[in-house]
Amino acid sequence: MKIAVLPGDGIGTEIVAEAIRVLDALDLNFEMETALVGGAAYEAHGHPLPEATLKLAKEADAVLFGAVGDWKYDKLDRPLRPEQAILGLRKNLGLFANFRPAICYEQLVDASSLKPELISGLDILIIRELTGDIYFGQPRGRRTAVDGHFPGAEEAFDTMRYSRPEVERIARVAFEAARKRSKRVTSVDKANVLETFQFWKDIVTEVHKDYPDVELDHMYVDNAAMQLVKAPKKFDVIVTGNMFGDILSDEAAMLTGSIGMLPSASLNSSNQGLYEPSHGSAPDIAGKGVANPLATILSAAMMLRFSLNQAEAADRIESAVKHVLASGLRTGDIWSEGTKRVGTREMGDAVVAAITKKTITG
Ligand code: NAD
Repeated sequence: MKIAVLPGDGIGTEIVAEAIRVLDALDLNFEMETALVGGAAYEAHGHPLPEATLKLAKEADAVLFGAVGDWKYDKLDRPLRPEQAILGLRKNLGLFANFRPAICYEQLVDASSLKPELISGLDILIIRELTGDIYFGQPRGRRTAVDGHFPGAEEAFDTMRYSRPEVERIARVAFEAARKRSKRVTSVDKANVLETFQFWKDIVTEVHKDYPDVELDHMYVDNAAMQLVKAPKKFDVIVTGNMFGDILSDEAAMLTGSIGMLPSASLNSSNQGLYEPSHGSAPDIAGKGVANPLATILSAAMMLRFSLNQAEAADRIESAVKHVLASGLRTGDIWSEGTKRVGTREMGDAVVAAITKKTITG
């Protein structure tokens, strides 16, 4: 089992270090190799996704990714910015399906900004299409950009685009995932205004004919944004395009208390995957040792389950996290009155201890 470890920038290095300690504690036979990505790779090699990093990622069974980016790179031309590394990895590895579970742990009900009764027991799955849509369409203005901006330009545009196979395959992923859950899919679009999303809606409806046991409904993205905070438990699986998924999954993150709790998996058709926390590099808290490592640790659990065929080990990590939360330890982002505030390293220590003391079983 070969894992490419790409910590990246900001808190990326701190949180990935904890996830690696947790993986080591499982005593399984992993081969892990680390490489630079994002701003760190730009500084060392002049490119956010160097050839050697891409090669390592392609050859591995799975990629464990931290986060990339920092405000100081905002002046760079877009292709050289750290965030391009993640887009490049998605494209080159064909990682078209992004899974973002939003689960509210009972111990964290109070950390959410929503009323406890709205989120207690929440367990939804957002499936975001990851390699199409406006993020991969033709942009206008790249050639004329100066320091990443467009002084004096009269217009700029990006093109929203989906092809039939792209929508079909993500729809199938969503229906298959729903079959293992409560068998309900909500397809989120903007078909009332955008042609691309009428096309999306038509194809999802067509694919649904192969899944008569799964309930399908369609919702406009503006309504979905509202329903997610009004009655989030009504959802089971949400499937949507790249941009809407980007926004809705961050919104869903806050339902769970903190974006620092939310793992994600991005898979290709052969189950090779990239696993990363849903948050970014958090430059505001980088280097302070206060970042919550749990989203990354839970991403490592998803990696074990989806790409490395180690479901039992994944269960052990998830049980250890629940145990640690139940014991009252909290990083600052999920801290509340009556709990004990700890840093990144102490949180990692506690998860490792829960695994190695074998107080936890899968
Ligand atoms: P962010 O997710 O990095 O941070 C948003 C807020 O959440 C900040 O206040 C931050 O301190 C907090 N936060 C995030 N993760 C946390 C954690 N684990 N523990 C505690 N608090 C946490 O988003 P941003 O500030 O909009 O972006 C910062 C940089 O990250 C930008 O350069 C952006 O482009 C990049 N980014 C990268 C990815 C990625 O690597 N996949 C994703 C999103 C943003």
